[in-house]
Amino acid sequence: MPITVPPPPMRTNAPIPTWFGVGGGADLLARPESLDQLCACLESDRRAKVLGDGANLLVADAGVRGMVVSLDHECFSAWHQTAQSPTHVTIRAGAGVRLPRLITETVRAGLGGLEGLAGVPASVGGAVMMNAGGAMGQTGDAVSAVGVLTRDGAAHTLLRNTIAFEYRRTTLFADPRRPAPAPELGPPVVLWAEFKLKKTDAGTLRQRLKRVMAAKAATQPMGERSAGCAFKNPVLRADLPGMGVAGSTLSAGMLIDRAGCKGLRVGGAEVSARHANFVTAQPGALAADVIELLRQVRQRVDGAFGVRLEPEVVIWGDAL
Ligand SMILES: Cc1cc2nc3c(=O)[nH]c(=O)nc-3n(C[C@H](O)[C@H](O)[C@H](O)COP(=O)(O)OP(=O)(O)OC[C@H]3O[C@@H](n4cnc5c(N)ncnc54)[C@H](O)[C@@H]3O)c2cc1C
Repeated sequence: MPITVPPPPMRTNAPIPTWFGVGGGADLLARPESLDQLCACLESDRRAKVLGDGANLLVADAGVRGMVVSLDHECFSAWHQTAQSPTHVTIRAGAGVRLPRLITETVRAGLGGLEGLAGVPASVGGAVMMNAGGAMGQTGDAVSAVGVLTRDGAAHTLLRNTIAFEYRRTTLFADPRRPAPAPELGPPVVLWAEFKLKKTDAGTLRQRLKRVMAAKAATQPMGERSAGCAFKNPVLRADLPGMGVAGSTLSAGMLIDRAGCKGLRVGGAEVSARHANFVTAQPGALAADVIELLRQVRQRVDGAFGVRLEPEVVIWGDAL
């Protein structure tokens, strides 16, 4: 007898919670409560978009057609130890685990490797997909394996050496001998990640964590609505006199600042005076304001330096 899976809780025309706090809703917002329900979601909409903590997302005012799947149910939000050696402990964390909480708990337990990601709002799934991080390290540095569900509903375990963690993106199924099934339908869904963490004195980790948080608080508008850095740091295609040689990476924030964009506004969207690569949404802002401001910033930087910035923020329902 076929086993029937109860349908996941599903809302129609539902707001999509993001850190920007602007934009429209989803035709359908599903919150599966089991792996079977997640598979059923993908079966009904193979192109469903996956929502993490919404910290790197900008949703257009018209919203998203089709289904958005949120993995914040507790069945995707647990973690446990999977291996231990005299020097390391490996933990497996579900995609829905909030990264800041995982960092706090692992630091408390004297396990080092994630503290450099302090202050990065993310779910584990979103942090893996974006390879979130910065000067103090990136998510991929600590990952030893990732569990994924491909769009055809098959679960796979990908070992670290088969995954390409790049600058603010991750290519799952990077191994050409094992191409991703149905990539045209979208990237696989991250179900969990394993982190190999080093046994370290908890006091030392706490100090590191404090230093990272202090550096972020001093340079970023952390209390305001944004999606973190709006643009990726560009690699120069040609020498830019006084700024860098071909092949070097420049700070997008520095370019935006030097192009005179700090404080630039469109409607309720503003280029932060604190960090030029942060666009913030003030009360009443529309997603259209943010998108238009991003376009203007890109145009000004291109005009001033001939450098084309690529968005780091993921935009649903529109494009730059
Ligand atoms: C104040 C602030 C500071 C920030 N600082 C940093 C920083 O220092 N460094 C940095 O790298 N980023 C930073 N960010 C951006 C953001 O924190 C990261 O990009 C983070 O990885 C986003 O994770 P998320 O769970 O919120 O993903 P979401 O924003 O929900 O989604 C981002 C992308 O990942 C996909 N995704 C999410 N979960 C899954 C999953 N389980 N399976 C498959 N795909 C999935 C989504 O479909 C989407 O394409 C900052 C953002 C804010 C608001």
